[in-house]
Amino acid sequence: MAQTVPEEILAALTDVEMPKLPEEPALFDSLMVQGHHVPIYRCSAVVMGSGAAGLRAAVEARRRGVNVAIISQSAWGGTSACSGSDKQTLHTANTADLGDNFQDMARAIGAGGAMDEDTAYVEAVGSVRAMASLQFMGLPLPQDALGGTLRYQTDHDEVGRATSCGPRTSRLMVQVLAREAIRLGIPFFNQTTGVRVLTAGAGDSRQVIGILAVRARGQTPDNPYGLVMFQCSHLVIAAGGPGELYRDSVFPNGCFGALGLALQAGADLVNLTESQFGIGTRREGFPWNLSGTYVQAIPHIYSVDVAGGEHHFLADYYRSTQELASNIFRKGYQWPFHATRMLNYGSSLIDLAIHREVAAGRRVYMDFNRNPLPVAGDLPFSLDRLDDDVRAYLGRAGAHHAQPIDRLRHMNPLSIELYLRYKVDIAAHPLEFAVNNQHMNGGIAVDTWARSSLNGMYAVGEAAGTHGVTRPGGAALNAGQVMGTRAAEHLAAVGPNAPSVDADIQTELGRAIEQIAAVLKPESSISVRSVKDAVQSRMSDHAGILCRPDDVAQALSDAKDLNQQIAEKGIAHMRAGEVARVLQWQQMALASEAVLMALNHYIASGGGSRGARAIVDDAGDCTPIARSGQLEDTRFRSERAADKAVQILVRMGAEKMEIATRPSRIMKGEKPFFERDWPAWLTGAVFDAEKAVLAYD
Ligand SMILES: Cc1cc2nc3c(=O)[nH]c(=O)nc-3n(C[C@H](O)[C@H](O)[C@H](O)COP(=O)(O)OP(=O)(O)OC[C@H]3O[C@@H](n4cnc5c(N)ncnc54)[C@H](O)[C@@H]3O)c2cc1C
Repeated sequence: MAQTVPEEILAALTDVEMPKLPEEPALFDSLMVQGHHVPIYRCSAVVMGSGAAGLRAAVEARRRGVNVAIISQSAWGGTSACSGSDKQTLHTANTADLGDNFQDMARAIGAGGAMDEDTAYVEAVGSVRAMASLQFMGLPLPQDALGGTLRYQTDHDEVGRATSCGPRTSRLMVQVLAREAIRLGIPFFNQTTGVRVLTAGAGDSRQVIGILAVRARGQTPDNPYGLVMFQCSHLVIAAGGPGELYRDSVFPNGCFGALGLALQAGADLVNLTESQFGIGTRREGFPWNLSGTYVQAIPHIYSVDVAGGEHHFLADYYRSTQELASNIFRKGYQWPFHATRMLNYGSSLIDLAIHREVAAGRRVYMDFNRNPLPVAGDLPFSLDRLDDDVRAYLGRAGAHHAQPIDRLRHMNPLSIELYLRYKVDIAAHPLEFAVNNQHMNGGIAVDTWARSSLNGMYAVGEAAGTHGVTRPGGAALNAGQVMGTRAAEHLAAVGPNAPSVDADIQTELGRAIEQIAAVLKPESSISVRSVKDAVQSRMSDHAGILCRPDDVAQALSDAKDLNQQIAEKGIAHMRAGEVARVLQWQQMALASEAVLMALNHYIASGGGSRGARAIVDDAGDCTPIARSGQLEDTRFRSERAADKAVQILVRMGAEKMEIATRPSRIMKGEKPFFERDWPAWLTGAVFDAEKAVLAYD
C-alpha cells in the first residue's frame, strides 16, 4: 500500500545544503610579465569545474596520490548543483531484477548514432562502479527491501535503467563528492575562472603547461585583470555545457562551458550538431524540465494571445481527446524533442505545436487544475479513455484522482513543493513554459580515457563530446562519473610530465596576456550585452528544433562577422569585476560559430533530421500531419542512415575554423580474457591506447 512520506523527508531531498569550503592555500610565488604581477600555484593536475564530473575527477585523482587542485567559476554553480527535472535521473546498469548486458546497454546509449562504440561500452561497464561508489559516499539512492536499486523507464530507455533520489539527484551527487573532496584535503580555488590554456611545444607534441585564470578579488594595481596562473602538466576540463548559447534555455544562469576556451587551445570539438531541447520553465524564472510526472499527471495545455484570448491549440493537432491526452502523458519519458516523433501523431507534435504558438506571439501554459479539454466533436477527457500503456501506468501508480494536481500530488509530491520553494504555486496557478535548450551532447573530442587531442588536457562531463545523437535520460550524469574516474586513473598512471621550463611559462603567459588585452577594450562599441543578445537570439531563432538550410548558412555568416568585429575592436569592459564575463562572452561567440559551422556543414552535405533538430526543407520527404491537415511549413528531410556512422569535428586552425569528419570508433570485438589481458593491467599498458590523429580539409 502506498505510504504518505512525511514533509521533513521530502524537504531533505529538496533543500540540499552544500558543505563549507576550506580555506584556500596561499599563493607564495609570482611572475612579472608585461607589467602584470601574476601569482602562481603549482600542482600536478588542475580540475577546472566543480560539478559532479569535475569533483569526481578530483576525488579519484587525489585518492591515487595525485597532487590535484580544483578551480571553479562558482563552487556550487553549474547544472549538476543547480538544475533539475521532475526526477533528476542517473542511468546505470539494471542490476535490480533481470540483470543487464553491458553490450545491450552500450547499444542503447549509442542508439541515435554518431557515437563511438567503445565510449558507449565504457559508460555502460563503468556505470555499476559509478553508482556503487556514489552509494558508498552516501548518495541516498532508493532501494527495495532486498537491496535492489529502484528503477524506472526514462527517455531512450526501453529497459528501465533510470534511478533517482528525487529532483535534486545531481545536487546530492555534488554534495557527497564535495564532502569527499574536502575530506581528502583537495585545494579548492573558488570564484576562479579559467580563461586560457597555456601550452608548450608545437604540432603533435604540444603539451599543457598550465591554465591562466581570473579572480575579481585578485585585482590589484599591478595585476589589473586579477590573473592567477596554475602551473600543471594535466588539466581536466569539467566546465559543463554552454547553456548561455541560447536565449530559450532551461540551463541555470551563468553556464558558459569551455568550448570557446578549448577552440582557442587548439583542441578538436565533436558532435556540436547534437543537443537536447524540450519543454520546461526558463532560466528567467526557475529553470526546470517539465518531464516525468509533471506531464504524466496530464494537465491541460493551452496558449494565451496578446489580447488575452485562450487557445486550446493542441486540439488542432491531435485527432481525439484520447490521443491528445496520451501524448501529453508520453512526454514524461519521451521528453526531448525528436523529429520523427512529429510523425504519426507522436509526442513531439506537442513540442512543435508549442514552438509554433510561441513563434506566433502567444504564451503557453500548463494548468494542473484542469484536465485536457476535448478535441472538437469528441468525448471529454476521461481516465478510462487513454491509450493502453498510459492507462496501465496510471493504474499501477494508483493515480485515479479526478484532477491533474491530485494525480501529481499522489505520484510526486516533491514536484509541487519544488516550485513553491521559488514562489510558484502550481496548485493554484497555471505554469508558463516553452521549448528550451537543455543539453549539449557534443563537446571536446576525447578518447576512452577522456584525453582530448591536446596532450595533457582531458575533458569530462558535459564539456566532453561523449554523447551521440541521442542519449538515454540520466546518461549525462553517468558519463561524467565514469569519464571523471577514467581521466583520473589515466593521469595518475602516466604521472606528471617533466616540469615545464620557466622560459616556456614566461613566453606563454606573455602571449596569453597579449590575447586577453586585445579583447578587453574599454572604448569598444561592442558590449557584453550586445554579444549576448546577438549570440543567444541567433542560436534560438536559427539553430533550435527547426533548422532551415538558408537560415543556418546566414546565421553562420553573421556569427563569423561578429567574431571578426570582436577580433578588430574587442569588447568594452565597464567594471573591473567584469573581466571574466567579457572573456567568456568572446569564447561564447566562438563556440556559437563552431556549432553553426558544424550544423551548416551537416546540412549542406545533405544531412537529414535527427535527434533534437528537424532539417526543414521544401524538398524534404516527411511531413508532419495534424488533425487540421499537413503541416507543409514543417516538411523535413529524413535522416540518412550513413550519417549515423560519422562524426563532425571542428577546430581552430591558424587562420580560421576548420572542419573534418571521421567514422565513429567501432569496438574491436575481441572478448576480454583473464590470462591474456591481466599483464596489460599489471604493467599499465591498458593506459597506452593510441590517440587518433585527424586530417582536416
Ligand atoms: C534542467 C536540466 C535537467 C537535467 N536533467 C538531467 C537528468 O535527469 N539526468 C542527467 O543525466 N542529466 C541531466 N541534465 C544534464 C546534466 O545535469 C549535466 O549534463 C551535468 O550536470 C553536467 O555536469 P558537469 O559536472 O559536466 O557540469 P556542471 O555541473 O555544469 O559544472 C560545471 C562547473 O564548471 C564551472 N566552470 C564553468 N566554466 C568555468 C571556467 N571557465 N573556469 C572554472 N570553472 C568553470 C562551474 O562553476 C561549475 O562548477 C539536465 C540538465 C538540465 C539543464
